[in-house]
Amino acid sequence: MNPLFQKARSRLILDNPFFGTLCLRQKPTEWDEPTGAVDGKHLFYNVKWFEKLTEMERVGFLAHEVMHLVLMHHTRRQERNAHKWNIAADYAINNHLIAEGFILPKGGLVDDQYENMTTEAIYNMLPEPPQGWDAAYKDGGGCGGVLDHPDSDGTSGTASAIESELTVAINQAAEAAKAQGKLSANMQSLVTDIKLSDSTFHCLSNLKLLTNPIAGPTLPIRKETYPSSSKLYFFILYRFINLHILGLLCKQVNNLSLS
Ligand SMILES: [Zn+2]
Repeated sequence: MNPLFQKARSRLILDNPFFGTLCLRQKPTEWDEPTGAVDGKHLFYNVKWFEKLTEMERVGFLAHEVMHLVLMHHTRRQERNAHKWNIAADYAINNHLIAEGFILPKGGLVDDQYENMTTEAIYNMLPEPPQGWDAAYKDGGGCGGVLDHPDSDGTSGTASAIESELTVAINQAAEAAKAQGKLSANMQSLVTDIKLSDSTFHCLSNLKLLTNPIAGPTLPIRKETYPSSSKLYFFILYRFINLHILGLLCKQVNNLSLS
């Protein structure tokens, strides 16, 4: 392994164990593309490009790649244009990283208007890819891209299995960092959103009701699948009970204001 890569990763583990632990799950792999990328198994990097970065930018690049995984960009692209998806994903990531105090490689895409938005929502706001852009991967922001997971076959079943395994790893990394007092409130909130999206919102996303009340960027979209009848039953029951309680409360307030 390149010694500068090793040094940057060690620094990430020491300073920010949440990112460092998750970075260790990726196999460092040299490649010839201009920058770097992650796919859920490999952390690709162009050695010449990597060596030209400052030490803090190298650490920022590694954290950037980990965030692509935390937000599960490698399983959520579906049929979207890979180049445009990478740009949207970078906008979704970089505000979080700057808030965490990371230094990004020069040219990293940052725009406050996309703060707390899902990658899918940012993607829809971006202009259509101009002619000449093909559907192939390209690191739009220049500070590290994301590729589809190599085991991904386009089905929701495979994506769910990859996401479930990753969610466990994210939670473990968060717990370890928290125990060391090195998990920020922002990242803690992000991890909580992932836990919620994995349970409660999975059913909602299956139903294409894509309103995420916590504005979390981690809502997986499963447009080609539908919830099982038992899931749907419990979801309807849950909403019914909520509405019933709301009705009772309104009645109480009415009674109080009349008396
Ligand atoms: Zn990126």
